[in-house]
Amino acid sequence: MSRIELSDVSKRYPGGVLAVDDVSLDIKDGEFVSFVGPSGCGKTTTLRMVAGFEQPTDGAVSIGNEDVTDLPPYRRDTGMVFQSFALFPHMTVAENVAYGLEVDGGYTDAEIDERVQEMLDLVQLPDVGDRKPEQLSGGQQQRIALVRAIAPEPKVLLLDEPLASLDKKLREEMQVELRKIQQEIGITTIFVTHNQEEALTMSDRVVVLNDGQDEQVGAPSEVYDEPVNQFVADFVGTANFFTGKVSASGDGGASVDCGGVELDVERTRFDVGTDVTVIVRPEDVSLGGGPNRIEGTLEIARLLGSATEYRVETAGGQEVVSLSHARRNVEPGDDVSVTIPPEDCYVLEGTVDGS
Ligand code: ADP
Ligand code: MG
Repeated sequence: MSRIELSDVSKRYPGGVLAVDDVSLDIKDGEFVSFVGPSGCGKTTTLRMVAGFEQPTDGAVSIGNEDVTDLPPYRRDTGMVFQSFALFPHMTVAENVAYGLEVDGGYTDAEIDERVQEMLDLVQLPDVGDRKPEQLSGGQQQRIALVRAIAPEPKVLLLDEPLASLDKKLREEMQVELRKIQQEIGITTIFVTHNQEEALTMSDRVVVLNDGQDEQVGAPSEVYDEPVNQFVADFVGTANFFTGKVSASGDGGASVDCGGVELDVERTRFDVGTDVTVIVRPEDVSLGGGPNRIEGTLEIARLLGSATEYRVETAGGQEVVSLSHARRNVEPGDDVSVTIPPEDCYVLEGTVDGS
């Protein structure tokens, strides 16, 4: 088990693309860290530099306090699972799991058998060892790919969108299971996903990447509740943005003038006159009267299962999204108002347009 350290790591591909731009990270021993960001932001490239399949153009990678920057993949002691987690089709499940142990060497046949069984037990598939991969479901194959990677007891586990090909329900089950297994064996893990919900629910910390740079590194609640910029706010969940200027600020609270809508916010560290963006999560917006009441018209109500999403167009022409567990008797076209508690207004300097 080991920490992973990236120091000022950059990667420019031969064609000229700067895929990773000066990223530094310190991942603690036993930590589960997700890399999340839109397609092409550099998640896979960063992971492959940790694994050793890509060489950084600049910077250094260390695993377990050892500088591995110049070591080939097989000397870095990592276990990796890819999105296309292809098991070897001609081998049995047990042979697949044993594969890494045999490549590693140094295990007796009896030790290998024992370890394979231990791994199959770990993912609650004790009896599938003699089957061929094609005789397993997608989710079962995914579990086997995972234990194939961890059987040789690597120092770190590197997962590149391993659940992306599973359907929603199975993916959610596997999220829970994967996290349980990771905690059980305490292995330092980097998990790459483009799915923000997956990153938030599974991780100790989340690294939000954009254009090769780490925009924010923090606990899931930090990046969700206190995003450092609009990109992070927007990427890790749905966000309502209100742009305006701080119009009053004092010990009792502050106000932001958002052109026609005056929002009371609990506090702001910005001076009166500063251009700001107020960020409000949909679950903090409710239909009805109360503080920060904004009048509008219901555009659409969407039942999402346990919650309903209401999109309201304000008199000023802005769409405000509200998410509620209560179902309301309203129809598109109805006059409605929304209300936002001042303590749920999060204020960032600057406006969405980047000024
Ligand atoms: P992600 O995994 O976040 O989708 P990648 O790390 O795969 O992103 O890619 C980051 C950027 O690097 C993209 O612009 C991609 O097109 C480019 N890229 C990835 N692999 C290569 C490669 N082998 N050669 C050249 N450019 C690449
Ligand atoms: Mg990728």
